[in-house]
Amino acid sequence: MTRLDSVIRRLTAQRDLLNWAAEEIGPTGLILELGLGNGRTYDHLRTRLPGREIYAFERSPAAHPDCYPPEGYLIVGDIFETLPAFIERLGQGSAALIHTDIGTGDEAANRQLALRLSPLLDSLLQPGGLLIADRAFEMPSCADISSRTGVPEGRYFVYRRN
Ligand code: SAM
Repeated sequence: MTRLDSVIRRLTAQRDLLNWAAEEIGPTGLILELGLGNGRTYDHLRTRLPGREIYAFERSPAAHPDCYPPEGYLIVGDIFETLPAFIERLGQGSAALIHTDIGTGDEAANRQLALRLSPLLDSLLQPGGLLIADRAFEMPSCADISSRTGVPEGRYFVYRRN
């Protein structure tokens, strides 16, 4: 498999899961995009979930100009500083869907990041809420339902809050 094949497979899994999650989540609760990046997955989420409140988190905003959230919905800064304040403001259990795509090519750093982020995401999800993630997380209050989504094992990860 070439690196091009690998990117295409990852992005296909990402899009398929965002489409799946948009049908799966309940009618209330926030949508969180962790890592706005270029704004591609944010654009996809806002198109698939019109009318929902979608917050995007990003430490170095540099998205496509058409893909910025409206005022008040882009939370700028390191997620480990902005997320605790966000939870305090909007409450635990306020998110229906969290998509996280903030990893790098450094697998050890990614594992550390996921371990650190897991408790914050675990507390943010409402019962039945979904985490769609580019890597494995440790989510004690959630079931790992990745294998039930049809996405090949290890390509993308899905957790549902009990
Ligand atoms: N899903 C996005 C898209 O479709 O365009 C791409 C996201 S990109 C792979 C990852 C983004 O996460 C980068 O823009 C990076 O700046 C941001 N990021 C990484 N670590 C972060 C952190 N600790 N706090 C806030 N943003 C972070």
